Amino acid sequence: MDDIVKGADILADPVSQRTRELGPIRKIGIVGAGQMGGGIAHVVALSGYDVTINDVAKERFDTALAAIDKNMSRQIASGKISEDERESAIARITFAESMQDFSDADLVIEAATEDETVKRKIFVGLCPFLKPDAIVGTNTSSISITRLGATTDRPERFIGLHFMNPAPVMELVEMIRGIATDDVTFGRTKEFVESLGKTIAVSEDFPAFMVNRILLPMINEAVYTLYEGVGSVDAIDTAMRLGAHHPMGPLQLADFIGLDTCLSIMQVLYEGLADSKYRPCPLLVKYVEAGWLGRKTKRGFYDYRGEKPMPTR
Ligand code: NAD
Repeated sequence: MDDIVKGADILADPVSQRTRELGPIRKIGIVGAGQMGGGIAHVVALSGYDVTINDVAKERFDTALAAIDKNMSRQIASGKISEDERESAIARITFAESMQDFSDADLVIEAATEDETVKRKIFVGLCPFLKPDAIVGTNTSSISITRLGATTDRPERFIGLHFMNPAPVMELVEMIRGIATDDVTFGRTKEFVESLGKTIAVSEDFPAFMVNRILLPMINEAVYTLYEGVGSVDAIDTAMRLGAHHPMGPLQLADFIGLDTCLSIMQVLYEGLADSKYRPCPLLVKYVEAGWLGRKTKRGFYDYRGEKPMPTR
């Protein structure tokens, strides 16, 4: 009897009722075909979702698709997926020439450059084309979800979905609600993320959330250690790999994340928490000013243009 009453309560609960009416998320859009946009598309397509990706130029999409294909080949070689799965996943990924191509998406994940002005412009251009019920997610590493959500016409259907890099390999997705994010949006998005086989950690909306609040000051400190001459690139990375059992040294990891992204996150922490302990290291600023952004530009704390990465200091 009690169970019947509980069942009736769930039916009457407006959040469950609305969630049922809307049904599950099916069609995904992604803005930004960089390392994260491509990685998220990889995961989403392998899980059976249709996904369309926009970027400033078609070549960025072509590069992302080639990288996805190569990474899926590695998964075939290690027995994680079959050739058939790769073929059908690749066929599910299409290029979105304009924001209009997101008009049937249930969820659009913004994964463009970590720059608030860029992201704001994207949301302003994107929202008029979306279905009224569509959810907008952002993969930002650090920027306030509440502030980004406020630039859209749907702050209650706006949410932070922070996939880790590389998205196909890393198990975690941080989920961050803005002040206005409603329960239906949180519930539908959570179900979607779980359907990708990912584990969720829920973070409050504070600068850089949890993972990067902890990780980036460590990377910044490694750059200070280099800047002050305490150790060379090689010595610092070896120290942390063998001395702390980190799978990658902090400078190697910085190159992997992208030094522009690392600097943006430190700036968000520094400004958002108004604490001098987060000041970005001047050497990190210098590398970014030189356009040495790490792996993606083939030069950062290491030079990747030869056969083997060579330290640049
Ligand atoms: P990236 O530099 O590899 O890619 C960014 C892409 O966004 C580029 O292809 C660029 O052309 C595109 N872009 C820029 N402006 C655009 C616009 N107006 N419209 C469409 N596309 C546009 O960067 P990334 O590492 O993929 O990071 C993307 C986002 O994911 C950032 O918010 C970053 O903080 C976040 N993130 C990064 C990592 C990481 O380790 N790199 C991890 C988690 C989250």
